Amino acid sequence: MSAERYEIIIGCEIHCQLLTKTKAFCGCENRYGGMPNTRVCPVCLGLPGAMPRVSRGYVELGAVAGLALNCEIARFTKFDRKHYFYPDLVKGYQVTQYDLPLCYDGYVDLFREDGTTHRVRLERIHLEEDVGKSLHLEGAYSYIDFNRSGTSLIEIVTRPDITSPDDAALLLQTLQEILRYVNVTDGNLEEGSMRCDANVNLKIWEKGTEYRTPISEIKNLNSFRAIREACTYEAQRQLREFDEKRQLYVSGFKRTMGWDEAKKETVIQRTKEAFIDYRILTEPDMKPFSVSEELIEHARSLVGELPQPKRERLKREYGLSDFDVQTLTSSRQLALWFEEAAALAKEPKRAANWILAEVLAVLNDRGITIDELGLSPAHIAGLVNAVSNGVITGKQAKDVFALMLKTGKTAETIIEEEHIAQVADTGAIEAMIRDILAENPQAVEDYMKGKSNALGWLMGQVMKKSKGQANPSIAAELLKRELLK
Ligand code: ZN
Ligand code: MN
Repeated sequence: MSAERYEIIIGCEIHCQLLTKTKAFCGCENRYGGMPNTRVCPVCLGLPGAMPRVSRGYVELGAVAGLALNCEIARFTKFDRKHYFYPDLVKGYQVTQYDLPLCYDGYVDLFREDGTTHRVRLERIHLEEDVGKSLHLEGAYSYIDFNRSGTSLIEIVTRPDITSPDDAALLLQTLQEILRYVNVTDGNLEEGSMRCDANVNLKIWEKGTEYRTPISEIKNLNSFRAIREACTYEAQRQLREFDEKRQLYVSGFKRTMGWDEAKKETVIQRTKEAFIDYRILTEPDMKPFSVSEELIEHARSLVGELPQPKRERLKREYGLSDFDVQTLTSSRQLALWFEEAAALAKEPKRAANWILAEVLAVLNDRGITIDELGLSPAHIAGLVNAVSNGVITGKQAKDVFALMLKTGKTAETIIEEEHIAQVADTGAIEAMIRDILAENPQAVEDYMKGKSNALGWLMGQVMKKSKGQANPSIAAELLKRELLK
């Protein structure tokens, strides 16, 4: 029994722009932005007589999303028209999927920071087209840009399984990560490639009775922070409303809310007393269709390894920490890059450390992705192998890496051309040590008296004199031997 007097219930609907080459039902290019109304045709402008067509790529990418999110894929499906009026909805209806969604009965697991996990069931993922965009530019005038009209979307509908604002934000984050991993969407929240609506209400216990507050649907939350703050605010608002007005749940009653980012408040946009009649009908211009096993299998092959299983495998195979694995798998490209380097490295752990420390520093510094670095995983493997094989020291590796970044040459080439090599020649190191001992009688005396830090200091002098090129373990060995003479 919870000590709290109430519990939050949240369900989400997430719209996601797909990375299809063309729009959903025509050949127009599917791309963000550009000069208004330059990527349009009779189909996505809804001109009379224009005939839409289902593209295989669209259905396939929808199936990839469904498979990545543990859904069943329908073998038979169709599109429907949903009618409503809005200036940017050029046809007067949206093509969507009503009673036969492409994907259904999925789930996504949330991995919370405290180490616990929570499963959120997905009711469905359906395909639908996006609408145009209204631009309110100069006072009295509004413009409409139809470049987005008819672009390919999926809508992911969860069950009301989310029990805190933090989990709602984590859900969006997890979906973004997974869908980016499988190249379904760029997941860009600021550009609206992912938009989240949250349905929020409360279960309240009072004197042994359980009450429910009416559901509020908060529209268009476009950051992790916005979803967390809006759900938190709305829960408190409903609690106040319950205490003051005893507002209780009535079937069919639902409020549509907006989130005022500046005021940090939810605002009521409209109240639905009953369900709106969208006059839904089967899209007559596109026949219901079968989804072939072949298409589903191909979609399955595009899913690949998902972030969480990948993290667990990397931890196991390379003995990396949670934090390191989290960083290395932050994008699919980086994870693949690391694995390629690790496969070529004599000591994969050393390759991991190099990428985590040196390579990521460069990426952050330059604000680029791993694909833009201009080096291959083989470059890093060659570099760390030179250290593993005792050809160069760790310090020299940093110099080689800097030259590598500048020239794009391999470690092997740089080491050869620049004559970089650690000095493992015992004769040369012995000579250096004898000089240092002669020049620093005080340090030698300190060492004889048992001052242990004197040895470290002398070792530092050896490395300095050799310009970091002496093999450290050989040098330490020889230094001790010389001191005992
Ligand atoms: Zn078009
Ligand atoms: Mn929708």
